[in-house]
Amino acid sequence: MESAQVVNSNGNADGDYQYEIISWFDSVSKNAAMVQTETLGQILHLNYGVEYLKKWFGDMKIQDMDACALESLYASLVPLASHADFEPFIQRIADGDTAPILTQQTITTLSLSSGTTEGRQKLLPFTRHSSQTTLQIYRLAAAYRSRVYPIREGGRILEFIYSSKRLKTKGGLTAGTATTHYYASEEFNIKQEKTKSFTCSPQEVIFGGDYKQSTYCHLLLGLLFWDEVELIASTFAYSIVQAFASFEEQWEEICSDIKDGTLSSRITLPRMRKAVLDIISPNPCLASQIEAICRDSKASNWYGIVPRLWPNAKYVYSIMTGSMQPYLKKLRHYAVSLPLVSADYGSTEGWIGVNLDPCLPPEDVTFAVIPTFSYFEFIPLYKKKQDLTSSTVGYIEDEPVPLSQVKLGQEYELVLTTFTGLYRYRLGDVVEVAGFHNGTPKLNFIFRRELILTVNIDKNTENDLQLAVGRGSEVLSKYGGELVDFTSHAEVMHQPGHYMIYWEIKGEVEERVLGECCGVMDASFVDHGYVVSRRTNSIGPLELCIVETGTFNKVLDYFIGNGAALGQFKTPRCTNNHILLRILNLCTIKRFHSTAYN
Ligand code: AMP
Repeated sequence: MESAQVVNSNGNADGDYQYEIISWFDSVSKNAAMVQTETLGQILHLNYGVEYLKKWFGDMKIQDMDACALESLYASLVPLASHADFEPFIQRIADGDTAPILTQQTITTLSLSSGTTEGRQKLLPFTRHSSQTTLQIYRLAAAYRSRVYPIREGGRILEFIYSSKRLKTKGGLTAGTATTHYYASEEFNIKQEKTKSFTCSPQEVIFGGDYKQSTYCHLLLGLLFWDEVELIASTFAYSIVQAFASFEEQWEEICSDIKDGTLSSRITLPRMRKAVLDIISPNPCLASQIEAICRDSKASNWYGIVPRLWPNAKYVYSIMTGSMQPYLKKLRHYAVSLPLVSADYGSTEGWIGVNLDPCLPPEDVTFAVIPTFSYFEFIPLYKKKQDLTSSTVGYIEDEPVPLSQVKLGQEYELVLTTFTGLYRYRLGDVVEVAGFHNGTPKLNFIFRRELILTVNIDKNTENDLQLAVGRGSEVLSKYGGELVDFTSHAEVMHQPGHYMIYWEIKGEVEERVLGECCGVMDASFVDHGYVVSRRTNSIGPLELCIVETGTFNKVLDYFIGNGAALGQFKTPRCTNNHILLRILNLCTIKRFHSTAYN
């Protein structure tokens, strides 16, 4: 048995709950194969007779079947499906059809995926089970973290969290992002009670609906409670970087509010104003201390500002893997000595895995699959030998395998069967099995499968793009520039088609350097299809477009305006969205064409 009592910074036994949840996970992960078979049995028994399953099972009586036999029958009868296959069913639910379509339990809430990866928000079922698993994974991860980074009981979390607008569908169901439903649920309060850590901001700030006003209040309250703040957190790392970028602009105003106990006129939402004004009172001494730190930090480009403002903070906690990796550099710049702890792996469809090794740097983090949350299958993916005549260069897929049969080092696409009514649903994420925790695999997130830059026979994934941009930005930093954000587009309207990469940068850099960055990126795409096409000029030179300062804030505003929440926002790394491209092209101030293949 791993671990016994967890001891907190006060030297006390940190409650039974940490011990309880860690031993629970030990036991389910030891028996992961059996637990998975049982989990599938539970899902199918609970939802026996729903329309979607009836299509495949007919009137077959599955209740009396042995769990193992049911597992093989399920894989042989129910096909793999994508969101498009579920869409008509979910739409009927949204329109108010209360028949048992996907689940026996009536669905009253729907989640909207962030939509920032694929460019389109997806509607997905959300049930009480969704909030309960969120609470469970948060508690489990917190228990593992407290072994390495114990925090003071009753301390505060400076959490940059935001709810999206909640809408009513035609059928009267509530729709919003999954995090929004969670913040509104009882489980969110239970989490604070159980982990004995409390968010600095009241609900009125989290639910304000205007991310700029919420960010200002999060920062203001975080500073008022500066000595109680034990950690800084957000769902995705982007929100923290975004918050500190605002802080660089607004610190004087925040200090003045702290000094006088007032609230800036930029906070116009009455409920948010009242809630914050109820908390604050004048504190000139604190304001002048913060001011002194800020003046000093500003001179060093805000290097290490986080531990200076929150000296009792133990770490920064957020999702820092996958498409969040490009923000790590900036996060490290702000956090310096504070450990960066990468948060767990999940999606609007369901939670997947927990980070059991909080002391690992984000680049090395893996996620141990929680075998009670969903039934997981894994489609083995093998890199195809480059077939230049095919436009589907990429992976060869094998038959899906259950969790018990995954192999170390193998890459897979994840398939979920959830308690919320998704059956053999292809998530589209590619993961690699990096190890095991007892009997459950630890996954390395590789990338989202559908995000691919392609002109003709070339195929580059989000990961390939990130690597190329990483190389280019190394050159940029060598000359004192800083990459703020980026995206890309495969331009195929004009012949030959070519890749366009949009960069927002900070700092003065000579054009010669930007030209070099452009060439370096072009040469960094090593996909055979790309290299051959570039050599024959069937793909034109890569184009680097430098956009003006604030462009990516406009991109963010566009998504937020369409119902996305800042907390779940991920800058789309590749886009074909016309409105987005219009914003990017209008804001382009300089263009460079690669000479890498001249
Ligand atoms: P959404 O449901 O729109 O909020 O996005 C979920 C997607 O975000 C997942 O399918 C992953 O592609 C990505 N994601 C979530 N958690 C992580 C993580 N810890 N590391 C990397 N990517 C993640």
